[in-house]
Parts: sequence; structure tokens; C-alpha cells
Amino acid sequence: MQDADITIIGAGVIGLAIAAEIARPDLSIFILEKNHTHGGGISSRNSEVIHGGIYYPEGSLKASLCVVGNRILYELAAKNKIPHKKTGKLIVAVKEEEDEDLERLYNNGKGNGVTSLELISKKQISDMEPNVQAQAALYSADTGIISAHYLMNYFLAKALNNKAHIVYQTKVVRIEKESGHYRIFTQNTKDEYFEFSSAVVINAAGLESDTIANMTGNNYQLHYCKGDYCSVSGIKKGIVQRLIYPVVAKKHIGLGVHLTMDLNERFKLGPDTTYIDRIEDYNVASEKAKIFFQSASQFLPFLKKENVHPDMSGIRPKLQGPDDDFRDFIIKEDFSGFINLVGIESPGMTASPAIAQYVRKMLK
Ligand SMILES: Cc1cc2nc3c(=O)[nH]c(=O)nc-3n(C[C@H](O)[C@H](O)[C@H](O)COP(=O)(O)OP(=O)(O)OC[C@H]3O[C@@H](n4cnc5c(N)ncnc54)[C@H](O)[C@@H]3O)c2cc1C
Repeated sequence: MQDADITIIGAGVIGLAIAAEIARPDLSIFILEKNHTHGGGISSRNSEVIHGGIYYPEGSLKASLCVVGNRILYELAAKNKIPHKKTGKLIVAVKEEEDEDLERLYNNGKGNGVTSLELISKKQISDMEPNVQAQAALYSADTGIISAHYLMNYFLAKALNNKAHIVYQTKVVRIEKESGHYRIFTQNTKDEYFEFSSAVVINAAGLESDTIANMTGNNYQLHYCKGDYCSVSGIKKGIVQRLIYPVVAKKHIGLGVHLTMDLNERFKLGPDTTYIDRIEDYNVASEKAKIFFQSASQFLPFLKKENVHPDMSGIRPKLQGPDDDFRDFIIKEDFSGFINLVGIESPGMTASPAIAQYVRKMLK
């Protein structure tokens, strides 16, 4: 007899979306979180963009779950009053050589099932965004922004209403496979140890998802890839209405230093991409302001150096090392009843409700 039917490790947007999707009063579901509250990991250090699904290779989980997640997120945000806005997004070409990259992205997005894409001219750009300088662009009408915290609160409330339990300040330190269930060993912040058994384990531990997966004999390795942001101040509210991204090379490490805004219309630039050692260092170097200014002022000519300030950062849990090609999300039942979600980097938040449905189907 096991103590829990299902244990979800990690209360970020992925673990919470899964809990919301699968919780039922007749199941005992425990969400274990090492921090004192939910959503303090990767999920609170991102751009809060509802991505369209343009960049990822056709047939990948990143592409398909992003496209489905985009649709579900708008529906559930509207229905449940989660603050969000369908801003739209322009991927801008500043040099003629970049035109073919726009076309490549257009075709890739279409192949992924993104319906609302349009290649637009310099004239159309200046009609839409008179303060943006570019000679061609790819317009994605279905890109937007959402409050990640409201979204996570919604998922958690739905899970708790369906009788799931969340346990904070409880770190999973060891897992052993026993007959028909898993033995989970935890440590709390007072250094107290506790163990229990669970029929099913769902590993949604973000930056530690490889460590958790490897406790039962897998061999995953995440690379930490930091993304710094700079805030933008001293410019007119509404000077730009849409999210503005540069064209990026094919390698899928990041999306280039871009301009996004939050729901209070505060602008920010970033994130960039820097592979780092395996430590959660969120410091943003002061020289980033100059670097970000130089890249963004190519398409935002109104920007002045003094508008840009070092701000926050986040860390991507990447399966793709610095010299590797594209790596997809891993969502896999590696051992019977043990589902690992590893490498859930962007577009993980957008994809979260679709990932949750995908995991529910794996449980049947
Ligand atoms: C810079 C940046 C920008 C991004 N921008 C976007 C974007 O605009 N749009 C988008 O869709 N996606 C974006 N993403 C991706 C998105 O944020 C992630 O895919 C998503 O937040 C991952 O959620 P998670 O639940 O897997 O991880 P987390 O939010 O990190 O949750 C994992 C949880 O597990 C807990 N945990 C870890 N180890 C243990 C343990 N041993 N025991 C118990 N608990 C444990 C952690 O404390 C944490 O709370 C971005 C990511 C980054 C880094």
C-alpha cells in the first residue's frame, strides 16, 4: 500500500499546471516544493510572453505544445480573469540579408500550425509602429503577455479545490524504486527527514529536474543558461505597442535581445544568453546596459543609453549545450509510473496547459 497516489515534485508553472489538470477528490496528490512558496523558480524569472510557436522545429514537442498551449492560455485567461493582453509581436529585419531569415521563420511557423503570421513591409511597419526602425518584419498577431503569478495561482487554486495537497519547504533528496511504488525521502528547512511512498512520481523540478530524474538511474544533464534583463525607463508609455524581436540565427539558444512590456506597460530588454556554471547566480553585470542599448537601438532609434538599466535575470534549464543543436523538451515515463519533465525551458510557460494534458494522457 502506498501513502500517495501521485507525487509531483516542483511547484512551478509546470508542476502546478499538471496538478490542476489531474487532481480529483478520489486521488491523493501531493505537490512537494523546496521553497517556502510556489513559483519562486524559473517561472518567476521569465518574460511572461505567450509565444506563438514560430521558432521550434516542426514536429517537436516545443512546437506542438506551444501552439496548443497558446490557444488554451488565452481561453483560460479570459474565462478566469487572469491578467493578459494579446499585444502581437514583430520580428524585425534591420538589414536586407535578414529577409530570408524572416521567410524561413514564416514558413517554419506556418508548418507548426501558427495561423496568424504575416510578412510585412517597411511601410506597414511604420503604420503599425512608427517608432520602430526596420525594413521588413514578420508579424505574429497571437503573441501576447500574461501574469505568470496569476496563472500559477489559478493552477494551484484549481488543484487544491480538487483536493490536491501542497507541501512547502520540503526538498526531495532521494528516491528509491520499490515493488509497485517509489519511496521518496525528503528534508525540510529544519533538517528534519521524512519518507513516504507514492505509486506515481511526476518530476517537474525545473533547474533540478535532471538531479531528480537521475536519482532512479537516468543520466540527464542540464546546462544552465542565464538570461539577463535590463529595464527601460524615461521613455513615453505606449511609444511601442507590440513586442519587438530581432531576427535570430537558427541555433535556438535564445531569441535575441528584444523589447517586451509587462501588463503595467513597463518596458524591458532581454533576455540574452550566457552559459554559466551550475549555480543560481542572478546578478546582472552593470555593463549589460551598454550592450543591450547597442543591440536594441538598431531597431528602437528613440532609445538613449541612459534609458537602459541592469535589472533581473533568469536561468534556462537547457539540455542543449553551447555547441549542440536544438534539443526538445523531455517528457517521458522513463520507468513505470515515473514521468520526467526535463529541459522545460521556453516556451514552457506558454506550453504549460498543453504539457499538463500531455502528462494526463500518459497516466492512463
Ligand atoms: C529568462 C527566461 C525567459 C523565459 N521567457 C519565457 C516566456 O516569455 N514565455 C514562456 O512561455 N516561457 C518562458 N520561459 C520558460 C519558462 O519560464 C519555463 O519553461 C517554466 O517557468 C519552467 O517551469 P517549471 O515549473 O519547470 O520550473 P520552476 O518554475 O523552476 O519550478 C520548479 C520548482 O521545483 C522546485 N524544486 C527543485 N528541486 C526540488 C527538490 N529537490 N524538491 C522539491 N522541490 C524542488 C523549485 O524550487 C521550483 O519551485 C523563460 C525562461 C527563462 C529562464
